[in-house]
Parts: sequence; C-alpha cells; structure tokens
Amino acid sequence: MSGVEWDAAIVGGGIAGMACAIRLSERGLRVVLLETRKKLGGRASSFIDPRTGEALDNCQHVVLGCCTNYMDFLERVGTADRILWHDSQTWIEPGGRRSVVKPGLLPAPAHYAGSFARARFLTKGEVASIGRASWAIIRADRGRHEGETFGAFLARAGQSDETVRKFWSPVVISACNLDVDRVSAASALHVFQEGFLARRDAARMGVPTGTLSELYEGVASIVEGAGGAVRLGAAARRVGEDEVELASGETVRARCIVLATPVERVGRLVDPALAKRDGRIEVLGSIGHSPIVGVHLAFEESVLDVPHCVLVGMGTQWLFRKDGGGRRVHAVISAASDWVGLDEDAIVARVLEDMHACLPSSAGVELSWARAVKEKLATFAVVPGFESKRPGPVGRGSRLVLAGDYTDTGWPATMEGATRAGYRAGEAVMEALGESLAPARMSAGRGEGAGLSGGGVVRSRRPAFFPRLLGLS
Ligand SMILES: Cc1cc2nc3c(=O)[nH]c(=O)nc-3n(C[C@H](O)[C@H](O)[C@H](O)COP(=O)(O)OP(=O)(O)OC[C@H]3O[C@@H](n4cnc5c(N)ncnc54)[C@H](O)[C@@H]3O)c2cc1C
Repeated sequence: MSGVEWDAAIVGGGIAGMACAIRLSERGLRVVLLETRKKLGGRASSFIDPRTGEALDNCQHVVLGCCTNYMDFLERVGTADRILWHDSQTWIEPGGRRSVVKPGLLPAPAHYAGSFARARFLTKGEVASIGRASWAIIRADRGRHEGETFGAFLARAGQSDETVRKFWSPVVISACNLDVDRVSAASALHVFQEGFLARRDAARMGVPTGTLSELYEGVASIVEGAGGAVRLGAAARRVGEDEVELASGETVRARCIVLATPVERVGRLVDPALAKRDGRIEVLGSIGHSPIVGVHLAFEESVLDVPHCVLVGMGTQWLFRKDGGGRRVHAVISAASDWVGLDEDAIVARVLEDMHACLPSSAGVELSWARAVKEKLATFAVVPGFESKRPGPVGRGSRLVLAGDYTDTGWPATMEGATRAGYRAGEAVMEALGESLAPARMSAGRGEGAGLSGGGVVRSRRPAFFPRLLGLS
C-alpha cells in the first residue's frame, strides 16, 4: 500500500471519520480510512463479551429527533430503519409511581406543556417554575452564557434545588454528561433549544434495534465502491499534512489528511513542527473528560415493562429494555465520576439498589449475570470556556483537516456532533482539492423544521415562539 497516493487519508474510524469518508466516496474520491482497532464505530461501537460470547454495546446510545445529520448518515449507509423511535418517556420515582412525558397537541415549543402539567413527580408549583425557566431558555442567546454554568442560569431563573434534582439534572446529565453545577450554560441551553423546544419531534428518542456496530456494516462497501479502502488495525503514529506514518512503519500518502481521532489523541499524533505552526493543537491538551458507566444486566424473569425509563433522583439515570420480555436491561450512569473507582460488583449492587427502589417488583428477581463497562474518557467535559477551545476543521497555519465531536460544531459530545464534524471535514477536503460538496440530503419523512444549509450539514430551524400557549406571556 506504501507509495499509493489517495485523495484523502482519514485517521480514525469513529462516526466523524466514517461520515467524512462516506461523503467523499459519494463524490468519487478515493479515500483510505485508517482505524487502529479491528472494527469501526469508535466510542459508539460493540464488542464481544468474553464471558458470555455475546455482542454488547460499549454503552447504550440514543439519538434524538433533532439529530438530523446522524440520521442522514445512517440513511446513506442504509441502516436508518434500524432505529426505533419513541415519542414518550416514562419517569419512575422511588416507590414506583410513574409519569409519562410526551408531546401533546400544542405546537412547539409548548408541545410538552400538557404532559408536564400531568406529571406526578412534579408539584404544580414546580411545573409552573419549569415553564418560566423554559421561556427564559427559549429567549436566551446561548453565546452570551458560555462563561457560566447552567446551575447559575437555573438559579437566576428561580429553580429550586428540588426542581433541579428531579427534572433539570437528569436531562442535562444525560445530554451533556456533566452535572448542572459543572456544565456550561451555553451547552445545556443548546440541548434544550434544539432538542426539546425547537420542534414537536425534536426530542423523540431513537434507540438502535440491534448492536451499534451493525449500524456501520455498509460503510466499507461504499468507500471501496469508489476505489477507496477501509484499513482496520492500522494505527497512526505521526500525522502530517500529506502523509500518515503508521505504527508498522508504513507511510500512507494522500492529497489531504483528515485527523478524526478523539481529542486526547490529537496532540500526540500531529507532527510537532506542524502542531506548532497550526495553532489549534496546543489548547486541546487542556480539555478535560467526563466518564460514563453502562451496565448490562440479565435477569431470570422480566423486570422492566417499558422500553426505557428515567429513575427520578437516582444515581442510575436510565434503564433500557434490551429484549421484548424485559429480562435484559441496560443501565446508564452519566457524569459517573463517583462510580468509576468502584469495582464491577459494587457498581452492579448500586444499580440494583436504584432499580429495586423504583421498580419494587424487581427486588425478588434473580440476576443471571451482569457486565459493567466503564468509559473513563467517555466525552469531553463541556465546562464554561470550553467552546472557545474547540477548533474548526481548517486552521490558518496548516492544511491538516480536523474532525471529531470535539471540533466547533456547537454540539455536546454526541453522534450528531461527530457526524456534523465529519461532514464539515468532507467539505473542507473538497474545498482544498478545488471541488465542492453537495449539501446533505434531507432525511425523508422527518423533521418538520429541518432544512438544508449550503454547507453540507442538515440544520434545525430555531424555535417558533408560542409563549401564550405555555401560559408565560
Ligand atoms: C459510554 C458512552 C455513551 C454515549 N452515549 C451517547 C448517546 O446516547 N448518544 C450520543 O449521541 N452520543 C453518545 N456518546 C458520545 C458519542 O459516542 C461520541 O460523541 C461519538 O461517537 C464520537 O465520535 P468521533 O468519531 O468524534 O470519535 P471516536 O468515536 O472516539 O472515534 C475516533 C476513532 O479514532 C480511532 N483512533 C484513535 N487513535 C488512532 C490512531 N492512532 N490511529 C488510527 N485510529 C485511531 C479510535 O479507535 C476511534 O475509532 C456516548 C459516548 C460514550 C463513551
């Protein structure tokens, strides 16, 4: 392979790298996708559990209706139909009382008003207070809140500790992987503005019907069909502007190089002289991380009768039913700094305690096996000031193209952010090669507010304002 000149070499076969490779291959470019592991998917992938021999996801991943680019990517790969959409979410309190949250008949952003008015885990006063804060969120210019935490924003919006604990925390922790007292207000505002209030279907939750790795099965044939290659087990050790040196000693040359690794790898891989000239690289070393723990559980009998649920006020934030019968469950603990030091038995015991509190009938059911997966570097930490460190796909001092969820998409660490980063990197490559990338297709049948930008990224429109329907004007 040495000496072959590719149109583009992409280092990193996560979602950003795959999305970039797909877009370039569709335009007939010969791309080589270099991935250090033996599989594609990066942080959103599956593994064979040596204990059970089963294919398990590293952690449950969900997609929201506002994730238009990720769904566009899956449509291109041919697996969009492997996402099952849910309109309602069940919130279960300790003791087992349930509330179902789903969009009602009112148009956005008032579509959740009726549902919250009926939610039993919130008092009438808390619902009214959340409504007032929602109005403040809709009106907020998120760029002006980059320097403060969302906790400070909520305090100014008059939210009590109890409302934060029961409502704001679970939503923010799940979406941004940081607690309200650490997360940048700008990032949390982004989640609420784009994810919950923008359109009726923006917060629909999509859950893969199979494993994560199955979603990318079509990627290699698209790349290869255009004369490119997907090389697994190909670890880069030094990345320049027109060549990549592999750990094997081989040099891969290309007209353009895209670096699509996680942020913590970038500084180690970019050629030192290039990094100095580039100007975007040094600051990346100061970006921190936040962990996530996912726990696979198999029970002797059914324990969960809903597809997924939030455990109100619990350390275990979400449970997902992984089979039709409710015997297989996946528990998710985001912002899991307090959990990563525990061993597997202690993690499982804590999850079971939370489950038993909210699903009392599960207490008598025997656990067959459990598998906890700790991801210490799960996501970058979107603390105040983080946005200013995010690099663009192209810099002033070099021709190296950066992709990855950490680049300046405005999104928290998500599959949507990674796809956007990959699409934009594709655009940058086309520009560098003197061509242009056609805008992404709009996903069929979804997105009453989704529209196309000129730049290849599918965007959502800003919310329409119906404050009177929320009872807020
Ligand atoms: C536990 C967990 C739960 C999550 N839950 C959700 C969720 O529910 N919804 C959601 O939208 N997002 C979720 N995310 C975030 C989402 O997974 C990431 O934001 C996204 O997958 C990042 O994609 P990426 O391509 O930017 O980076 P990565 O997935 O990290 O891909 C980078 C790739 O580069 C490869 N690489 C690294 N070094 C080299 C090298 N030297 N040479 C070659 N290749 C290299 C890596 O192996 C990897 O495959 C979750 C993440 C985690 C960890």
